[in-house]
Amino acid sequence: MSLKVAIVGAGPAGFYTADALLKSESECEIDIIERLPCPYGLIRFGVAPDHEKTRNVSRAFARTLENPAVRYFGNVEVGRDISIEELQDAYDAVVLTVGAGRDRPLGLKGDDKAGVYGSASFVNWYNGHPDAVDLAPDLSTPAALVIGVGNVAIDVARVLLKTPEEMAATDLAGHAAQAIHAAPIKDVYMVARRGPSEAKFTNVELREMGELAEAVPQVDASVIPDEVEGDMSDRDRRVREKNLGTLREFAVREAGEKPKRVHFVFCAQPTEILGDGRVAAVRLERTRMEQGRPVATGEFFEVPCGLVVAATGYRSDPVPGAPFDDERGIIPNDDGRVAERLYTAGWVKRGPSGVIGTNKIDGQATAKIVLEDLGAGAGRPGRAQLLSVLDGRNVRIVNYADWQRIQAAEEAAASGDAPRAKFCNVSEMLAVLDSDSAAAE
Ligand SMILES: Cc1cc2nc3c(=O)[nH]c(=O)nc-3n(C[C@H](O)[C@H](O)[C@H](O)COP(=O)(O)OP(=O)(O)OC[C@H]3O[C@@H](n4cnc5c(N)ncnc54)[C@H](O)[C@@H]3O)c2cc1C
Repeated sequence: MSLKVAIVGAGPAGFYTADALLKSESECEIDIIERLPCPYGLIRFGVAPDHEKTRNVSRAFARTLENPAVRYFGNVEVGRDISIEELQDAYDAVVLTVGAGRDRPLGLKGDDKAGVYGSASFVNWYNGHPDAVDLAPDLSTPAALVIGVGNVAIDVARVLLKTPEEMAATDLAGHAAQAIHAAPIKDVYMVARRGPSEAKFTNVELREMGELAEAVPQVDASVIPDEVEGDMSDRDRRVREKNLGTLREFAVREAGEKPKRVHFVFCAQPTEILGDGRVAAVRLERTRMEQGRPVATGEFFEVPCGLVVAATGYRSDPVPGAPFDDERGIIPNDDGRVAERLYTAGWVKRGPSGVIGTNKIDGQATAKIVLEDLGAGAGRPGRAQLLSVLDGRNVRIVNYADWQRIQAAEEAAASGDAPRAKFCNVSEMLAVLDSDSAAAE
């Protein structure tokens, strides 16, 4: 008897959980169910378009989809096309790996003004996610402000500042390339409540900001401390020391060196988004760091800008039928166990933190628990029952061979050195399959 597992969500956590199950001693049959026709989650829609190498991890995930014990069910949304209860009826175990695709509310006075976006929507827009294709942000402003100084904030600032030539070999969505490259943005401000020692970017990403063709980094030397303070691991200390070194190099760069600038503004917390219906400026209050915490100083200043992107965190959407911790924005779980035969892994299990590889350890941990609970399988029918339910509802399943055809069409449509020209609508993806079948007839 084999263990029948449904994994909901084809992002890194789903694949790493599947891999760990396949490597176990139990015989497994695994179905990976994904709401979009395309697999890979944030590898396709989060990772910056100019970081194609990071996306190479999807080749390993493709090998998982080629495993005969695995079947891909794209274009099937749990909660819309099939319920969790129905999946539990069909499978021995159901693992929810649906990620954290929503913006955490900014909670700032004036954050409902036009021109204010969360990074989930904004990144989805430039990466061609079907949910964000109609966002159409108005970029007709000389200055943009990004709240946050982690890697996502840096990605947003870099994508706004790179030239068409620098983005030529990327898969930046066509609508976003048009809008960004026509925009008059000359200054991007990245603001953080904390100081340079606390900034969470990796040094490679930070250094990249010093090498942009048309933009020069700017930072006030007086806010950069001589050394990293506080308790932390040696590894964290080394990263932060490197970052301080890079910021010191940035502090001596001339503002007029290049036509555009990226300003790192530390120790400043946004207090209000100003403007009449549309953002015109952000009001900020200076902070100072005391025992590792930012403390407000009562000193205010304003940064005029027509676009605000808040890279201040993600949260999951509840999945109908699964418990949800609204405060933390995750599925409450005990080491991945949610309820009887219901499990979770990845960002929806532990919150939106860590890199792609963090989900490997996490997926392995959840797989271990599934195997401990149900290693021998519980005799449920699995795939046959899923197919019968979806067939009864006329759900159009995109299988792995279908996805490969969509992928090949995206690659064929790419121009120059771009890896692919992404389809940004589900209908465009399905149209590839329709035109293939029409040609075959
Ligand atoms: C902007 C951004 C940039 C990043 N860049 C990097 C980077 O350069 N390097 C790095 O190491 N990490 C990066 N990360 C982090 C990395 O992407 C995450 O750690 C990882 O993707 C989380 O994996 P996950 O499987 O939990 O979620 P996801 O990758 O979000 O996958 C979840 C999947 O579930 C699907 N889904 C959701 N709801 C349903 C449903 N009801 N039914 C069926 N399917 C559903 C979604 O469509 C999605 O495909 C980045 C993250 C972001 C946000």
